[in-house]
Amino acid sequence: MAADYDLIIIGGGLAGASLACALAGSSLHIAVVEAIPASSDDQLSYDDRTTALAYSSRRIFEGIGVWRQIEQEGACPIHHILISDRGHFGFTRLHAVEAGLDALGYVATNRVMGRALSNVMQAANNIELLCPATIEQVKITADYASCSIRQRQQTRTISARLVVVAEGGRSGLREVLGIASKRKDYKQTAIVTNVTPGKSHDHVAYERFTETGPLALLPLQGQRCGVVWTTRQDHASTILSWDDQEFLQQLQQRFGNRLGKFERVGKRQSYPLFLNRVDEQTRERLVLIGNAAHAVHPVAGQGFNLGLRDVATLAQVLVEAVQHGDDIGALSVVRAYEEWRVRDNRIVSRFTDSLVRIFSNDFLPLVIGRNLGLLGVDFLPGLKREFSRRTSGLNGRLPRLARGLPLEPDHG
Ligand SMILES: Cc1cc2nc3c(=O)[nH]c(=O)nc-3n(C[C@H](O)[C@H](O)[C@H](O)COP(=O)(O)OP(=O)(O)OC[C@H]3O[C@@H](n4cnc5c(N)ncnc54)[C@H](O)[C@@H]3O)c2cc1C
Repeated sequence: MAADYDLIIIGGGLAGASLACALAGSSLHIAVVEAIPASSDDQLSYDDRTTALAYSSRRIFEGIGVWRQIEQEGACPIHHILISDRGHFGFTRLHAVEAGLDALGYVATNRVMGRALSNVMQAANNIELLCPATIEQVKITADYASCSIRQRQQTRTISARLVVVAEGGRSGLREVLGIASKRKDYKQTAIVTNVTPGKSHDHVAYERFTETGPLALLPLQGQRCGVVWTTRQDHASTILSWDDQEFLQQLQQRFGNRLGKFERVGKRQSYPLFLNRVDEQTRERLVLIGNAAHAVHPVAGQGFNLGLRDVATLAQVLVEAVQHGDDIGALSVVRAYEEWRVRDNRIVSRFTDSLVRIFSNDFLPLVIGRNLGLLGVDFLPGLKREFSRRTSGLNGRLPRLARGLPLEPDHG
């Protein structure tokens, strides 16, 4: 029996939608199943949260045809990053020019990215968007994977040669499929909002480590800044209960006066933080990508960038399998993908986890060590360049899209 689709992507959030866009116009017949309409306030993947995009992510977005719209609707370049340890001597400054890049990264809202991705998906003839609809079960057989889909109060079955689970960090199918994962609750909450500072941000992104967690201020279009204020879980409700004035005063006290007086603040939202990594990222006819495969602390703004490198790699592996006449769901194909991604995923989750552990510790030798580490990066040009390129997603074995090349060489 022929499968209904070549590929079913479960979850049309940022990772799932990006994969669909990367394969738009290919010979693959794709279904994207998404539980929540993009226009809904409950669609967290497309909310007002700001995301720092690494330079490699800009290249991937260019390659899949969404960057122009994201840039036009508001992506603010980051020219400098200033990392400091509140109340201590250590700091590091990273500059795009020193890394040989136009920008170290960009800041865009999830809403802007979501809109651009939706437009490309809707315009593609080979993509069917099934939304709102939920996949409740996945069964793998030798020839295809079948999914039971709940749509308009009815349940039916759809099948494909390959199923990609892009369900996000709260993925329920992992459990249904018996895929174990390692989870660590940071017992921290990120409070996310926008503020208008008195002085221009001059395209500087600030990462300030404080005793209760990191505080990031990211440059946005229109001279606003995105705030990611990480705090202990038990303190989050207090921060959320402050009125605007109190919030601005407390933020000012924590951040200092580099950006002048904070004048206005937008809506505040909170996100519990945890680390998660699945033990198996692939099985025959099954791949997990994005937060469904690995959720990391937002400390260095790496989570979606990592997911986007999953997307660029998987799209390339699938397109090459098609060119060679291989079955895209075959174990050899999905394992080639997993082997390629394992190193980057491991490095980034260890890196972010170490940052959280090292910077939330008051043990004096560790405080001195981390501050010397920050100064070391600042004063050693080779180390600094390496650090900048790593945070820009430009290290290691990169897929074609992340190198600024088209997915398929012939179409270049
Ligand atoms: C406070 C905070 C700040 C962050 N900042 C950054 C940053 O600066 N840079 C960065 O790179 N990353 C950042 N991240 C991480 C980034 O937001 C995530 O990595 C990214 O949103 C994950 O996308 P995803 O598509 O994998 O998952 P999600 O966004 O969770 O999307 C999953 C989608 O699947 C759908 N779905 C789930 N189950 C089903 C089902 N059974 N059937 C159908 N549909 C289903 C959901 O409705 C949802 O739309 C941050 C995260 C947080 C919490």
